[in-house]
Amino acid sequence: MIGKILQKKKEIVLFLVIIAGVIILFLYFTKFHYHGTYINSKKADFKIKEIIEQEKESTLIEQKIWEEKYIQMVFQTINQTFKTVFLNAKNGEILKIEDMVKEEKREHFKTTIHELLGLKYPKFIADVLKYENGEITYILKENELVLYFYNFTITPAPKEELFLKINYNRIKEDLNFQIPFSNDKKDENGFDYVKNKKTIALTFDDGPNQDKTLTLIKLLNENKMHATFFMVGNRMVNAPDVLKEVLKNGNEIGSHSYHHKNLTRLKKEELLEEENKTNTIYKSITGEDLKLLRPPYGNVNQEMKENLNYVFINWNLDTEDWRYRDEKHVYDSVIEKVEDGDIILMHDLYDSTIEAVRKLLPELYVRGFQVVSVSELANLKDITLENHKVYRSIK
Ligand code: ZN
Repeated sequence: MIGKILQKKKEIVLFLVIIAGVIILFLYFTKFHYHGTYINSKKADFKIKEIIEQEKESTLIEQKIWEEKYIQMVFQTINQTFKTVFLNAKNGEILKIEDMVKEEKREHFKTTIHELLGLKYPKFIADVLKYENGEITYILKENELVLYFYNFTITPAPKEELFLKINYNRIKEDLNFQIPFSNDKKDENGFDYVKNKKTIALTFDDGPNQDKTLTLIKLLNENKMHATFFMVGNRMVNAPDVLKEVLKNGNEIGSHSYHHKNLTRLKKEELLEEENKTNTIYKSITGEDLKLLRPPYGNVNQEMKENLNYVFINWNLDTEDWRYRDEKHVYDSVIEKVEDGDIILMHDLYDSTIEAVRKLLPELYVRGFQVVSVSELANLKDITLENHKVYRSIK
């Protein structure tokens, strides 16, 4: 009897040992074990150690797992750049960002990056970054994927760090895994000017000039910049489409009188007529009133200031493009003197001016200048432009 019971006990113990063995073997073969809040495989753990050893010059600043599928290791190198390593959490295989994007969505993923680069950066930068002749580090963060661009050859060379933030709501359908995102995050836009940066206003007088004004608009657009065009009333009449194009692209139009006369020599009635005629034409084309006036030759007297209901905008940096008609002179005159808050004078009449602007805008960008219209400059400097007052710069 006792012997039988003992026999049974032995069987139970043996049974329990076998069950425990099966569980241990199962855990061993599935190669999963817990690591805090997430699960890595032994292979992945081994690979992680190997990578840390390889990257021992750099600092591991973050290690994260996404949906128990992908491990992201972010390193900061001694050059202060970032480097990411992505791993398959199950088998430790090293992955590229593309491996985490659905195959049929890779084209969309790429197109989205290109589109957002074009939205954020001037063309001369975005085009190079799209071509991918440098190195890109991708970092998965909360709400957004951030791309850092290193070792791209761009002329002129930007001094600032180049990066792009992509909200996951832009690419959520593309990714192989679920990722939390916020809908209220805006795309980065190069036209979103900020207050704590050097800012200048570019102004073009004596237009509109069909081809030249439109070329300038295109150049400004490509560089995420704006300008103020002070137009002559009797030229506006023939170019309503140009006026609309100037405004449509975020630029500003001011009055430069109707006949380009020296306004200081006019009688009060003539003075008022000059400005009323210009405003009437402008309003018939755009539906708006003119607010800024650049007096021809920059000439202002007391009578003008009293009688004309305008903000008078002169300049403090004259390129003398009309006198020299020389590309290099215009370029140098700006680059050698330009300072925060300047109002720069040019004319949309000469090819030499346009060629100078073509080179000038990227150079101003890499030197950290925001180039905007006069009203935008005033806004960014917290200055309210007042009628009857003359401004030469807005600092
Ligand atoms: Zn003029």
